[in-house]
Amino acid sequence: MGLKVAEFICPTEGCWLLDKLGEWFPPEVCRAIRGIPLARREIDDKLVWHEASDGIFSLKSANHLAVRLDQQAGGWRPLVCWMDQGSWKRVWNLAIPPKLKVFLWQVLHRFPPTMEALIGRKVDVHPRCPMCWAAPETMEHLFFDCCVARAL
Ligand SMILES: [Zn+2]
Repeated sequence: MGLKVAEFICPTEGCWLLDKLGEWFPPEVCRAIRGIPLARREIDDKLVWHEASDGIFSLKSANHLAVRLDQQAGGWRPLVCWMDQGSWKRVWNLAIPPKLKVFLWQVLHRFPPTMEALIGRKVDVHPRCPMCWAAPETMEHLFFDCCVARAL
């Protein structure tokens, strides 16, 4: 296509060129575009990551976004719901190797690929624990209930 946004903005009035938008986009997209306010003065474009107050992308803010979107979709439930921001700081300040901190954080956020998590990600696997075959492999089963894991 090779079009630029500027080609849809009147160079003299600084408003959207509605007729041109209508030639390229369906009505619902045109309505959404018309809702985007245009700058009154000429400023250079720049990339901004809206999830961070400084506008700069970071993995931390991306993780927060991923968790929030997962929560909104109803697919996220923390392993321990009592952990608040202060609790997380204590986890990060524990005197243990960094990779264990990361693993603990992942477990508490249910990121390791248990059968339950894989099924949630639409992977076609059997839900039973592959070690004991006695119950669905959830994070709770793996870390608290599985007789094979307990014997380790
Ligand atoms: Zn098991």
